[in-house]
Amino acid sequence: MNENYFDHAASTPVDPRVLEAMLPYFCEAHGNAHSLHAAGMRARHAVEDAREEVAALLGAEDPEEIIFTSGATESNNWVLQRFSRLAISPFEHPSVAVTGRAQGAHVLVNDRERLFPPIDPVDLVSVMWVNNETGTILDVPGCAEWGIPVHSDLTQATGKVTFDLSKVCFGSLSAHKFYGPKGVGALYARGGCGFDPLLYGGGQESGARAGTLNVPGIVGMGMAARLAREHQAQDHAHASQLREIVLDSLGTFSDWREVRSPAQSPFILNLCFLGLVGESLVVELDCRGFAVSAASACKSGSGAESQALLALGVEPAWARGALRISFGRCNTKESAHALANHLREAVESLRTLEARAFG
Ligand code: PMP
Repeated sequence: MNENYFDHAASTPVDPRVLEAMLPYFCEAHGNAHSLHAAGMRARHAVEDAREEVAALLGAEDPEEIIFTSGATESNNWVLQRFSRLAISPFEHPSVAVTGRAQGAHVLVNDRERLFPPIDPVDLVSVMWVNNETGTILDVPGCAEWGIPVHSDLTQATGKVTFDLSKVCFGSLSAHKFYGPKGVGALYARGGCGFDPLLYGGGQESGARAGTLNVPGIVGMGMAARLAREHQAQDHAHASQLREIVLDSLGTFSDWREVRSPAQSPFILNLCFLGLVGESLVVELDCRGFAVSAASACKSGSGAESQALLALGVEPAWARGALRISFGRCNTKESAHALANHLREAVESLRTLEARAFG
């Protein structure tokens, strides 16, 4: 694994134990999980075991409340498209924000991290547990007290921070954010999915989500969920330590700041550098062998300031120079020190260039 990869919020590498668990289901045990023969039954059992692991990771009461999907984007789209009177937080990932906009959703009024109840009557509020750009932990339990059903995008929370699933009716997640494969995820629906499927067809997932099950992916997600549960405390402590190392090693040079919230995931460190463009820093660090991100990977290259940063009250001039460093199992203390040193040099060299060009 590459210890200089600091973009785990975009995607994590597949854990070798996850890969090992998946491999038999490509060839040797390739059966369709809905076939009646032994090969189908073997696949079916593996899927149900994975469902139990995902339920255990989330703290769901019944594994039947877990519906496998292609990832959080699908889960988010599915839930939001089933409600016409919606409110969403201003911090949401595009898979919620854009879907919400298309559904005419209200955007909740906020004061930094604090969210205020919607004024108009709504049937669902969607508030992510952890923001993917800043690591801000939003007060989903507080929103649940408004008495409106809550959907929460749990993508950056699962396997990372503790959360109380009893506060939400729906939750979305993706396996590749916790060392599972890409293209597989789940929707948690309290009491089972009570609304129309997103996809119609063969009636898989108890009729909730049609399409032949991605057995290797689901098995991988199950193993990743088990490992995430076992490693969560250790992973959290590791990320906290790396985060402090980067902050301490950056030292005192001018015009940078950390975007930190009162409730903060240690896995994401958002730094803003005044007068710079985040993307230039990403390229400069890439040349030095380090992978980081400007905003979220999904928005990179858009050139716009992050809505999440603006919602937190960060001024546009600072938000343009935002860099997201996200920690994971493959990073070491040494690589965190090295990243901070290269980052300081990269900032200084870009500032010197800017001063020569415009000074
Ligand atoms: N929500 C959040 C908070 C995310 O960070 C991401 C991934 N960037 C998604 C949803 C979408 O996940 P996926 O692309 O796996 O569907």
